[in-house]
Amino acid sequence: MVNSIKMVDLHGQYLKVKEEVDQAIQTVINSSSFINGSAVDEFCQQLAEYLGVKKVISCANGTDALQISYQSLGLKPGDEVIMPTFNYVASVEAAALLGLKPVFVDVRKDSFNINENLIEEQITKATKAIVAVHLFGQSANMEPILDLAQRFSLKVIEDNAQSLGAVYTFSNGVEKMTGTMGDISIHSFFPTKNLGCFGDGGAISTNDMELAKKALMISRHGQGQKYNYEMIGCNSRLDTLQAAILSVKLKKLKSYIKSRREAGFIYNQLLQNIKEVVGPFGENSMYHTYNQYVIKLKDRDKIKEDLRLAGVPSMIYYPSPLHLQNAYAYLGYVRGDFPVAETLCQEVLALPIHTEITLQEQQFIIETLLQTIDKL
Ligand SMILES: *Cc1c(COP(=O)(O)O)cnc(C)c1O
Repeated sequence: MVNSIKMVDLHGQYLKVKEEVDQAIQTVINSSSFINGSAVDEFCQQLAEYLGVKKVISCANGTDALQISYQSLGLKPGDEVIMPTFNYVASVEAAALLGLKPVFVDVRKDSFNINENLIEEQITKATKAIVAVHLFGQSANMEPILDLAQRFSLKVIEDNAQSLGAVYTFSNGVEKMTGTMGDISIHSFFPTKNLGCFGDGGAISTNDMELAKKALMISRHGQGQKYNYEMIGCNSRLDTLQAAILSVKLKKLKSYIKSRREAGFIYNQLLQNIKEVVGPFGENSMYHTYNQYVIKLKDRDKIKEDLRLAGVPSMIYYPSPLHLQNAYAYLGYVRGDFPVAETLCQEVLALPIHTEITLQEQQFIIETLLQTIDKL
């Protein structure tokens, strides 16, 4: 057991769909349509159906999807885009590359998501959009974000890279899936995401057919008629092989999410009475897909090392907030600007969670965690 605990178990997940996946791969190889094969459109339609949106456009990865989304919305150099500082780098990077001005906002210490109460004070005449990131498998608090966006005529981009399959409940009881509420949404099929392919992959979803047309054009070199370039674009495609694999795995997504949620509940229960550990928030109010199971604790680095020595892997998402990264120092932020994010970076620890994890493994992980804490 000690040597077998994995942060993720992609091979175990593959073995359960091996026949279907191998068949799908072989079919693509036999057709030799490696680029823009029929499996690509088929997958886009299936994902659109799963989400209940009008259009899904595939692309090479989630980071490209963000860049293409910003461009599709017509954002121009100098336009301000509000986003959380406790996050993966993609949203700020894509914005910076286009000359947009990233504007950071602190996050909530319970859900790790953007603090909706701190957004309005960052809105200026130059603000054009808000990136609502659904971190670790759980929706950001969308209702107030969508209200603000409407009030100030801002666009909302949902970064759903980590949370495909999550659900948000509005105050009137209406439930919507993440990736269907904003103007445009991005998804990633990086292998460890809720729906992972065997390499890189990404997609954009929207109910706005004009935006969809633009996003498709931008991702295909800005090409209209063949060899007529209507706008500056890029080359960002989902391989046919990846699309074929994703179609097989999309059919299992509900059961993958069920497994993740069950594992999440088990951790919640095992951690219930451990005062040194704060578990992730929200099962009562928000449907969590547990792409990551992130706890907070003091002496995090020491505990992480002791866990490692005892055969329990863990990860730190994220060790530094984006506003303190060298690459974004030019934005002028300093330590102390976003105290919640800065503290979280000292305290967060992601425990192993994936579709194949067993109860015994989870029990071992938490027992080991307890012993480690007791030794401090
Ligand atoms: C994974 C991820 C992305 C995009 O990832 P790619 O590796 O480019 O597919 C974007 N945003 C967040 C929050 C992510 O976790």
